[in-house]
Amino acid sequence: MSATVFVIGSSNTDMVIKASKLPAPGETVIGGTFLMNPGGKGANQAVAAARLALISSDTGASPTVTFVANVGNDVFGRQALQQFEREGIRSEFISTDADEPSGVALIGVDSRGENSIMVASGANARLDQHQVANALASISEPASTVILLQLETPLPTVEYAIRQGYERGMRVVLNPAPAQVLDPAVLACLYAITPNETEAELLTSIRVTDETTARQAAQHLHTMGVPNVVITLGARGAYVSSAGSDTPPALLPAPPVTAVDTTAAGDCFNGALAVALAEGKALADAVAFACKAASISVTRLGAQASLPHRPEVDAIPL
Ligand code: ATP
Repeated sequence: MSATVFVIGSSNTDMVIKASKLPAPGETVIGGTFLMNPGGKGANQAVAAARLALISSDTGASPTVTFVANVGNDVFGRQALQQFEREGIRSEFISTDADEPSGVALIGVDSRGENSIMVASGANARLDQHQVANALASISEPASTVILLQLETPLPTVEYAIRQGYERGMRVVLNPAPAQVLDPAVLACLYAITPNETEAELLTSIRVTDETTARQAAQHLHTMGVPNVVITLGARGAYVSSAGSDTPPALLPAPPVTAVDTTAAGDCFNGALAVALAEGKALADAVAFACKAASISVTRLGAQASLPHRPEVDAIPL
């Protein structure tokens, strides 16, 4: 059986200017440094998955990683496609939009680390059901396929992918970021949902601050029909709960590290989780693997630049 991970989501180019201060309306601030980085939650999660989907000594499995996305017919879109190829990501279901530009995020960062961000979704906002249908139609072994989604592409497309994946017997994992209210009927089609504390609160109206409130939020999501809930809790790790399972819910600790930049920690966690599930790991083991991977990512600067490769994760003891 060949395991596959399908990441469906956004691809952006992040343009960052670091300056002494953020401009007020109408103001121009001179004297910053400029950085351009590949980003977008979908792309970050696809890269995380691809770097971790190597033959592993303990499973022998090697999932392929396919990214389903929409980029513009411009230099950013072409650079993104080249980057996906370098990472070994299958890109045959990435469309180039004739009319809309690639997604761009303009990020200002001041000397205190405060930021302000503007995102032009561009081609990401035109990722449609037809593209998802084409991609899912290519899947020959649904039982060994994990679909990973986020909420930076149109909600009808995300909901369509969830329903289709469910109906075809695939495991669908939703990282509900950025936070949005979701249709309970769609939530019931998920294999797992992976909110952080803020997203868990938006979905359940329970303020998640610790293990007790994470348990309450997970229970609430179970009553909404989600069988598996993984709430990421930053440096504390992740709370995992499966409805009707013999495995009791647990807070799995994050390996202690000195964090320098948590950008894309959640993306790293989700890409790693999807790979581990596709390899056949049990949910709790997959979450432990994802905690290890994400703990490495926070020790490095940047988004995709911080994402670890498989041998680094396997080198951390359980
Ligand atoms: P971000 O928006 O920064 O990408 P997030 O809010 O989506 O992250 P978090 O819950 O902050 O998600 O982090 C995801 C996972 O990353 C955590 O469950 C944990 O495993 C790991 N992690 C985050 N911060 C730390 C840290 N300081 N030390 C170790 N691991 C961390």
